[in-house]
Amino acid sequence: MASTTEENPNQPISPVQVLYCEVCTFPLEYCEFGSSFTRCKEWLQKEDPDLYDKYYSEEALQAKLGTLSLEAQTKLEKDTAKKEAKAEAKADAALKKKMASQITIKRIERNKRKHVTSVHGLEAFGVDLKKVAKMFAQKFATGASVTKNPQGLEEIVIQGDVSGEIVEMIEEGTGILKGVPKDNVVQIEEKKKKSTD
Ligand SMILES: [Zn+2]
Repeated sequence: MASTTEENPNQPISPVQVLYCEVCTFPLEYCEFGSSFTRCKEWLQKEDPDLYDKYYSEEALQAKLGTLSLEAQTKLEKDTAKKEAKAEAKADAALKKKMASQITIKRIERNKRKHVTSVHGLEAFGVDLKKVAKMFAQKFATGASVTKNPQGLEEIVIQGDVSGEIVEMIEEGTGILKGVPKDNVVQIEEKKKKSTD
């Protein structure tokens, strides 16, 4: 858009308004191509009823669908509903899996005054375990590696007791730990069994 407005220090120039959909994040024209069209429409109806009418009123839809046969219209609606249901089920399953995933930070006593710390469960949040191990090794200036635990699951083992620091790093979203939910963290202490009391 060409602008002939001269700069005036006393008056701010208003920016070009492009309204983006808060549901699918695309400009409004693109909502119908996404997998959340129904929710997009609900949002716009609340947000801006006038704009909603412009896009989705009976007349607007008639004008748009005028060229399609009734059969094609029905198929289009069915396809959209199917696509939405699929996307929603997928998002639901992913969210459930995420929420159910526990991150276990275990302080393990190797012998008197010597500990290692194991961290399990970060991979569920899309974190590269090798990279995290490297970050821990650098931050704590100690050994850290990715190993398989007795259950055959991968975990990060760090030399020394750094469990508290790791909890803090997750809480603060340090580096690649950003986005890992702190509520899913469980701290465990594993004491060495005493042979005699
Ligand atoms: Zn949208």
